[in-house]
Amino acid sequence: MKPDFSAALALCKQRGMYRVNQEVSSAAGGYAVVEGKKCLLLASNDYLGLTQHQTVKAAAARAVLDYGTGSGGARLTTGTHPLYRGLESDLAAWKGAEAALVFGSGYMANLGVISAVAGKDDVIFSDALNHASIIDGCKLSGAGRAIFNHCDMDHLEKLLRDTTVAGKRWIVVDGVFSMDGDIAPLGDLVCLADRYGAALVVDDAHAAGVIGAGKGTAAHCGLEGRVDIQVGTLSKALGAEGGYVVGSGDLIAFLVNHARSYIFSTALAPATIASARAALRVMREQPSLIADLQANASFMREALASFGVKTNDAPTPILPVVVKSAEKAARIARVLRERGLLVSAIRPPAVAAGESRLRVTVSAAHEKEKLRWAAREIARAMDETGILI
Ligand SMILES: *Cc1c(COP(=O)(O)O)cnc(C)c1O
Repeated sequence: MKPDFSAALALCKQRGMYRVNQEVSSAAGGYAVVEGKKCLLLASNDYLGLTQHQTVKAAAARAVLDYGTGSGGARLTTGTHPLYRGLESDLAAWKGAEAALVFGSGYMANLGVISAVAGKDDVIFSDALNHASIIDGCKLSGAGRAIFNHCDMDHLEKLLRDTTVAGKRWIVVDGVFSMDGDIAPLGDLVCLADRYGAALVVDDAHAAGVIGAGKGTAAHCGLEGRVDIQVGTLSKALGAEGGYVVGSGDLIAFLVNHARSYIFSTALAPATIASARAALRVMREQPSLIADLQANASFMREALASFGVKTNDAPTPILPVVVKSAEKAARIARVLRERGLLVSAIRPPAVAAGESRLRVTVSAAHEKEKLRWAAREIARAMDETGILI
C-alpha cells in the first residue's frame, strides 16, 4: 500500500497547525519583503542586523573570490579550507575556552555533541523546554533521560537524587530558551552539577551576541569557566550559518573523532565561514550593537505593556505573547502581516498544546518609533480576536 498523507494534512489544517513556507527577503533597518509586501520584521533571529552589515557581506564576497563557492568535502577529507582555523580560534578565544569546533548547523552541533558524549549507561537531565535539537541528540545518544520541569531546580535536584546512574550524569539546558526568552538559572545549575558530579552542557543559540556582553549565558551569570560544554549557532546574532561547540582541547579532539553529524557531512562554504568570522569581529568591535539590541528589547517590552499586552520580563530580545489557541495565534499573525508587520505564530510541536503564542523578536536595527507602532498593532489585532483588554 502506498503511503497516504492526506488524512494527516487535513487534521493538521483542522487544528490550525498547517504550515507553509513564505518567501521573505530581508532588508536593512529590520524590514523584509514578505510575499511581495514590505513588513516590519519582528520574527527574525538576526538580532544585531549583521546579515545586512557591509563589512560582513564584503568578507563573504571576498571568500567566494579567493576560495570558490563550496567546500567540496567533509571536514576530515578535503573540506577544512583555510578560513576554518581562523574562525575556530576566534570562537575559542571569544568564549574563553581551550578549543572550538564548527558544525554544519546548531541543530547538527547539538545532535552530534550530545549523541557522541553521552552513552547508554548515562542519564541526561534535560529541561522540559529544551530545543528540539537537544531532545533529538538525547534520543540518539541512547542514554536514559530525566526531564525536569522548566527551570525548576527543586525538581531537578529530586531527579538527580532519586535516579540511579551506572555511567555519567549530564545536565543539558538552553541558556536563553528559544520560545520563552527566559534565561536558565545557571548559578543553581552549576551548584547542582557540582553536588551530583554531573557535567553541564549549555546551548547558547539565543544567548551569544545577546547577553553577557555578547559572550552568552555563562558571562551573563558571572560563571565563565564553569560550564563544561557550550554549544551555539552562527546563524542567529552572528548572521551567518553553522553551529559550534567550545570546551577543552580533549573534548574537541573527541568530537572530531566521534560526532557523526560532524564527520558525515560536507564542511560549510568559505563565504559562510568568512561571514561568521567577520560578524564576530564586528560584534566585538562595536559593543553599541548589543547596547542597541538591549535598549530595543526593553523599549518593546514597555510598549507592549503600555497597550495591555503581557510578555516576559527577561533581558532578552525574545518576547512571547501567549494566546493559547493555535488557531488564534495563526489568525493574529495573518492579520498583522496584512498590516505590514511580520511576527511568528508558534504552535505545537514547537510549544505544548494550549501554549501557542506570537513570538516577537526585536533587533538592534529597529527604530523605536516603529516598535511603538508595532506594539499598538499587536494589541489591536489581539483585541479584535477577542483576546485582550
Ligand atoms: C536555533 C536553535 C538551534 C539550532 O541552530 P541552527 O543553527 O538554526 O540549526 C539550536 N538550539 C537552540 C536553542 C536554537 O534556538
